[in-house]
Amino acid sequence: MSGLNQEQIEHLGRLMDERWTREFGEIRSLLASGGELQQHTALGQREADTSDEALLNSLSATNQALIQQNLQDVRDVAAARQRLAAGTYGECTDCGADIDYRRLLAYPTAKRCIDCQRTHEQRKGQR
Ligand SMILES: [Zn+2]
Repeated sequence: MSGLNQEQIEHLGRLMDERWTREFGEIRSLLASGGELQQHTALGQREADTSDEALLNSLSATNQALIQQNLQDVRDVAAARQRLAAGTYGECTDCGADIDYRRLLAYPTAKRCIDCQRTHEQRKGQR
């Protein structure tokens, strides 16, 4: 486990819950405006759990860019929750160092420390 204490982890968990709820709300309203909501009526009406993955996959076929963006955010939260459950949350996936708590407050789903993120983005930019 990272250097985070229980209180910090719970706080970050709540931030992710809020983000999850907000993203699903946006997806629902985007679907409604596109007339696609009926196909996904179950979406977001239950507590967040692993079966949301199935809904996410059913939505992956949609080609609305905005929905895809929201889906990516939801997936980031899902991945961060998995790291939380596995006890690896707050550790950089590249170098294993503890991610700064202030960075996690700004980006609760961050999976890299600031140094590795910079390196990662530079590499992406060079492609
Ligand atoms: Zn790192």
